[in-house]
This record gives sequence, structure tokens and C-alpha cells, in this order.
Amino acid sequence: MWFRKGLRIHDNPALEHASRACGSLYPVFVIDPRYMEPDRAAFSPGSSRAGVNRIRFLLESLADLDSSLKRLGSRLLVLKGEPGEVVIRCLQEWNVGKLCFEHDTEPYYQALDRRVKNFASAAGIETFSPVSHTLFDPADVIARNGGKPPLSYQSFLKLAGKPSWEASRLSTALSSVPPVGDVGRCEIFEVPTLIELGYNETEQDEVAPFQGGETAALMRMKEALGNKAWVADFEKPKGDPSAFYKPATTVLSPYLKFGCLSSRYFYQSLQDIYKDVKKHTSPPVSLLGQLLWRDFFYTAAFGTPNFDKMKGNRICKQIPWSDDEQLLAAWREAKTGYPWIDAIMVQLHKWGWMHHLARHCVACFLTRGDLFVHWEKGRDVFERLLIDSDWAVNNGNWLWLSCSSFFYQYNRIYSPITFGKKYDPNGNYIRHFLPVLKDMPKEYIYEPWKAPMSIQTKAKCIIGRDYPNPVVSHDSASKDCRRKLAEAYAVNQRLNGMVNDEDLKSLR
Ligand code: FAD
Repeated sequence: MWFRKGLRIHDNPALEHASRACGSLYPVFVIDPRYMEPDRAAFSPGSSRAGVNRIRFLLESLADLDSSLKRLGSRLLVLKGEPGEVVIRCLQEWNVGKLCFEHDTEPYYQALDRRVKNFASAAGIETFSPVSHTLFDPADVIARNGGKPPLSYQSFLKLAGKPSWEASRLSTALSSVPPVGDVGRCEIFEVPTLIELGYNETEQDEVAPFQGGETAALMRMKEALGNKAWVADFEKPKGDPSAFYKPATTVLSPYLKFGCLSSRYFYQSLQDIYKDVKKHTSPPVSLLGQLLWRDFFYTAAFGTPNFDKMKGNRICKQIPWSDDEQLLAAWREAKTGYPWIDAIMVQLHKWGWMHHLARHCVACFLTRGDLFVHWEKGRDVFERLLIDSDWAVNNGNWLWLSCSSFFYQYNRIYSPITFGKKYDPNGNYIRHFLPVLKDMPKEYIYEPWKAPMSIQTKAKCIIGRDYPNPVVSHDSASKDCRRKLAEAYAVNQRLNGMVNDEDLKSLR
């Protein structure tokens, strides 16, 4: 049993299948240097592909899985190296009859799995790879649409219908797992700690308040769903993006990302509540609707070649984004001079999680709202730092927020000043994540550059010295962005044969 995501015992069809009818079972996880090797040159702690918060979350999830397996009479066998090579070596060494792993639609895993499956098939080893990371099999939905992924949420819902497994109760308990067989010459490790992997635990002054693992996932879900009225009334995008001690949404995303929580079990638990209450919200705004957004992006991503790029991506508008490294660095390092934007970026660095609308604000600011920097650059920063970093969902949302695909109302720009103020007029969120501004009076907390020098002095924060001046003026930058988007849209339409050159000239 090869674990990658799906780090759980409940509703794990690959593990159940593997546990049935065999004398011994090897539950394997491979520490992949691609994600885990510390990168000292990176702009913040972590590897080149994963921030330290996500690595910690993963290690906690592995330790939890290991304890659960031990309770069931087994353990997690941790190996290190390039996963394809390591798994093939294990298959050669252990005389394996069947290899089980959860199906994965991400390009990295698709390529890896092809290699391993080819080896297995040539060696006469059976493979079993069920779809259980998502509610639906993206390939089925795409097939029902004549081979193309649905590109709107509503058409996705229509095509997807009800999940095939909905009528039967999911299996959420496993009574035992066969004992581990002889591991031969393969070097097996315990789940490593961050320090053992070469990370310095003290590099961070504030650690993400989310514990990894299936146990924490199930507790978190139970707590969220315990409040049935809250579940029934859940309506996105209502909810306060600045609430951080008690976030306005479930924060189940990192658990769903690593499969510590089964999305199908979450779905079934939500349906149980909806049956129990008189009235509840519906997709796209309900909690169930959020989970369906996840499947929507998985399906769009699986069916779109080059989904993670602008070039060669047929659903992505071609926009002449800038590659201004200085503006990108200011955004990434929380130095734009807009406290609302910078506080969100600090939350990303410190916690690896922010509310959905907070993500909207910083993604819009970087791309079509103010800085006009390429969405792929922002995507890379999120991909590395989010604890819920998810290839399909992250790329899908960056395409959306930059008005490159799915959503095209580029005139609707989030103000980096007034948007946050609506929810948090006192600026408590900013004061927490940007303590340099903690004594700034509330009148200036969203626009500190406007504070008179006497007030800046009293607040012990001189703008331009202790906290930056704004990198752009929002009024003029956002106008400029709208104009550039209008031009780019016109060129895209002309490329599609819908606008002539005269129309184009009138837009300039
Ligand atoms: P809830 O509101 O409690 O929703 C429950 C679950 O529904 C989430 O855990 C998530 O799995 C799913 N969900 C909610 N919103 C979305 C959405 N817009 N798209 C797809 N699925 C959704 N989410 C990720 O999981 N990984 C990412 O890498 C990621 N990158 C994002 C990048 C940008 C630019 C933006 C704007 C959003 C991104 N999101 C991503 C989507 C969304 O912000 C998070 O899923 C959500 O904030 C997670 O918090 P939650 O679990 O409390 O969500």
C-alpha cells in the first residue's frame, strides 16, 4: 500500500482493498526530496517547493497515520528517495503480488504512476488504484461531456449529478491490517522530525495553529459540523476574512489536500445534516457547494492541457503581464505599503492559511488590480507557502482571480484600503500580523502614509523607515490595470475572430 495523499484510515478504498486477503502488507510512504529537502537560498524557511509549515503539517499527518496503523497491528514504513525508484526497488525486493495506491490526477503523479504501473505490469504485479481523493472521477465527468471538461460550475454540477457511491454508507472503520512482511535490504525509517530533515525549528516566531493528521481532521470536522445551524446557514462569500482567532470557515482545506479527511466522508456528513434541518443554503454558496468547487477545479484541471500555464492553455486569456521582480518581491515579502495586503501575506508566511476572500484580495492586487504581475508568479508563491497548496485548486483560483479564465469581470477590483475596513474597522487583523503598526490609530491603520508625522512618531512607526510607503497609488494603478485588461481582452477576441482592427483602435 503506497500512501501519497490519502493519509487516513477512514474511507480509504486502496487500504481496505490492500488489507483484504493477504498474508502481509507493506504500508509505504516515500519522503520525496523534491518537496522535502531544505533550501537555504529560499526567501523563507522550507524546501524550494514547500514552506516549512506544510512540511510540518505533512510530518504530523504521517506520525498520526503511523500511530493508527500501529493500533491496527502494522506501522508506516518510511523510505527516502525519488518515489518511482524507491517503490520499484521495493517491488523487486519484497515479492509483492499487488500494489495499491489512490488514483491521483495531478500531472506529477500521473507521470510517476505511469512509470510504476508499467514496471508492475511487466513484472506481473497487479495494481489497484481507486478514485477516492475527489467526490467524482474527473475522467467520467469529462467523458460525459464529449471529452471536454465543463468550464462553468453549473454545467459541472449538471454533468456530475450525484456521486456513484452516494447511496451506500462509506466504510469508515478498519478493524485490522495484516502484519508487515520482511523488509529485506530496504532501509526503513521512522517518521522523521523537522530537525532530522535538516530544518531549524526556531526559524519561525509564530507557528501555524493547525495540527496535521487524520485525528485532528476528524475532530475539526466534528466541531464544525456540531453546529448544525451554522452549517445550514453557511453562505460564501459572506463571512469575515479578517477573523483569525476563530476563522469564519472550516479550515478543513489542508486536511482535504493531504487526504487526512476524505472529501466523500465530509460530503456524506454534510448530507446527513441537511436531512436533519428544515432549511439550508445550496451550491454554489453552501458548504457542500464549496466542496463541489474543489471537484469542479479538479475536473477542469485534469481535462485542460497546460492548465498551470498561460501559454498553450486554451482556456486562459493571453495577457501581457509584467515580470517586474521588484513589485513581485514587495508583494511576496509583505512590503507593498498597503497594510491589509501585507498582513494577509504575513499570515500566509506564518500560518500557510488565509480566508478565501483574503486570498482574493492579494491575488487581485498582484495581478489585474494593481501590480499587473503575471499570475503564474503569485501562483508559485501560494503553491510553496500554503499548507493546503493543491495543484488543481490553486491554479484554478489564480486563473479565476486574474480574470484569465472562468471569471471575466475585470472592472471589479478589490480595494486594498476599503475592503478590509468593512470587516475590521479597528484593524485588529493588521495589528496582529503587522505588529509594527500596532499603535497606529484606527483612522490611519489602512492608510498609514496619510498619518501626520506627529501621529507616526507617537505610534513609533515612521512610514518610509519602519513600514514602507505604498509601492503604487491604488487609484492610478487600478485604472491602468483596467485599461490593459480591456486591451488584452480585445486582442484575445480578435485572435478568436470576433473583433476587427477598428474596434481595437477605439479601445486605445
Ligand atoms: P471552506 O469554506 O470551509 O470550504 C470547505 C472546503 O471546500 C475547503 O476546505 C476546500 O477544499 C473547498 N473549497 C472552498 N473554496 C474553494 C474554492 N474556491 N475552490 C476550490 N475548493 C474550495 N484552496 C485549496 O484547498 N488549495 C489551494 O491551493 C488554494 N489556492 C487558492 C488560491 C487563490 C488565489 C484563491 C482565491 C483561493 C484558493 N483556494 C485554495 C480556495 C479557497 O480559498 C480555500 O479552499 C479555502 O479558503 C480553504 O478554507 P476552508 O477549508 O476553511 O474552506
